[in-house]
Amino acid sequence: MARTQIQAAREGTVTDAMERVAERENRDPEFVREQVADGQAVIPANVNHESLDPMIIGREFATKVNANIGNSEETSDLETELEKLHTAVHYGADTVMDLGTGSDLDEIRETHVEHSPVPLGTVPLYEAVKRAGGPEELTKDLLLEVIEKQAEQGVDYMTIHAGILAEHLPLTDGRKTGIVSRGGSIMASWMETHGEQNPLFQVYDEICEIFAEHDVTFSLGDSLRPGCLADACDEAQYAELDTLGELTRRAWEYDVQVMVEGPGHVPMHKVAENVERQQEVCDGAPFYVLGPLVTDVAPGYDHITSAIGAAMAAQAGAAMLCYVTPKEHLGLPDEEDVRDGLAAYRIAAHAGDVGNERPGARDWDDALSEARYEFDWREQFDLALDPDRAREYHDQTLPGDNYKEARFCSMCGVEFCSMRIDQDAREGGEMESLTSDEDGGTDLEASPAAEVNRPPVGTHESGDLPSVSDGERVEQPGDD
Ligand code: SF4
Repeated sequence: MARTQIQAAREGTVTDAMERVAERENRDPEFVREQVADGQAVIPANVNHESLDPMIIGREFATKVNANIGNSEETSDLETELEKLHTAVHYGADTVMDLGTGSDLDEIRETHVEHSPVPLGTVPLYEAVKRAGGPEELTKDLLLEVIEKQAEQGVDYMTIHAGILAEHLPLTDGRKTGIVSRGGSIMASWMETHGEQNPLFQVYDEICEIFAEHDVTFSLGDSLRPGCLADACDEAQYAELDTLGELTRRAWEYDVQVMVEGPGHVPMHKVAENVERQQEVCDGAPFYVLGPLVTDVAPGYDHITSAIGAAMAAQAGAAMLCYVTPKEHLGLPDEEDVRDGLAAYRIAAHAGDVGNERPGARDWDDALSEARYEFDWREQFDLALDPDRAREYHDQTLPGDNYKEARFCSMCGVEFCSMRIDQDAREGGEMESLTSDEDGGTDLEASPAAEVNRPPVGTHESGDLPSVSDGERVEQPGDD
């Protein structure tokens, strides 16, 4: 019996997970199987993750969004970590990476696997460094021990920083911001101290064997991603990418699924080049990008600077986007930052899908637009990407229940609501009454809009959102 999704796919078997994915994506199960067999898509689904609702990551499918969570030494209780998982899934994360570096990592990870309906990713290097007592104390045996344990616990995909090699390090000397990946800096430090090749590269075949046994998907880390526009697309970044291409093919030989991580900070005119190059070098393995941020000048708004790059990357063929929050480069995100970051990235992912004319992608836009034109405010809120935010903003000025059927909102007001004017004109006669009024304004009593042009009544309903206390640790995307 096949141990991994790619092995089953290569043998011609459509698994239950492929069936479920096909149903979720409205695609033919056989097409899903072909994409997985060819390594063009992955279904991260550890055989030990029983609560998982399988999903697929690949450029031919809906673009996915990842959110990072995790504890630190300062905030390390199980309840808080579960609440973070809930918050990420509530706001639409398709996968969640636990980048925790605090206490009780095993208990938290096992609880996450037990409760998470979305794939769970980790960076096992972090736990290994913590257990070793520092980057220089790491050993190959310890790395394998931690990776195997996390695979047994049910982690669906792991970031493995095996692509940064000793010969790449001199290429970073002229950089403006050096090595900004946490995993990359740890591996570089280890290689310099020990005078040896990257230990994860050295034990790569053993990692493949572990992943094949439990069906863990590789997320090959981009340790040399650019940390600023000046370093984008440099020799170091592309040298590592070449190695990631070789590692992709080696993993496929073991029937192990692979996706490849990407930058970082990239100017707009080079985003597509990055995606196209990764697709070519890595034979179409799914590209999982952080941003990229298209400018360095907007700390506090990096969910926007990066969502611009993410939308462009999605249109160019990136399969999954790792969210960035407004706190990027500045501090620890709180719940509102997670919400804003996920909203920005779900917009980027959906815009990419619409731009790529993915089957059914624009149906959502069309349905919301119809509700908007029909002044069906409740339907408009329900269809909104963030229904609570849409309702809240509308109700700030027109809170009454009667305004849920009003043929205007406070943006233009009743007299200048273009959609109402347009509808009235089409229905015949109303445009005439508008122009025949003495003052040239709307005769509200005569207008079909009159029924809803009343003073506000009713109450402003508050949202029912999960609460996360201020200042708690939510890991930054750049942490890995
Ligand atoms: S008032 Fe303006 S913004 Fe509001 S519904 Fe009418 S056209 Fe749209």
